[in-house]
Amino acid sequence: MPRRNDLEHRALQFISKTSDEGVLQVDLWHQLGASSREGSRIAIKLENKGFIRRERELFDGRWTYRLYPKKEPVSITSIKNCPCLICSDSVRCGAYGAISPNDCERLTTWSIDLIREDSTQGDP
Ligand code: SF4
Repeated sequence: MPRRNDLEHRALQFISKTSDEGVLQVDLWHQLGASSREGSRIAIKLENKGFIRRERELFDGRWTYRLYPKKEPVSITSIKNCPCLICSDSVRCGAYGAISPNDCERLTTWSIDLIREDSTQGDP
């Protein structure tokens, strides 16, 4: 039988990959080879730690929970097109240097565009 910490870690990894779809608690425990009792304890623990959220769901005439990740896996999408990635000054750029992100026009423009893009995504 797998150790609880190992199971908790594997469960969190699995749930994190399900994104908006989530996963039924029962399916997850089958996948990880855990008992439903042990699985419930781990799901509650992960929820209490703020890593996942649980929503009650009626499935095949029985109440169960669907588990959703609260934190998205880290991705590099958020820094896509960042000017620093292709900047020829990046080696000399630093917070207190002559070339600095503090007054970089390219970085400022990119950041503002990103904020604008983000704020319009919620618009109908
Ligand atoms: S902050 Fe500006 S100057 Fe510094 S690496 Fe990024 S784009 Fe280049």
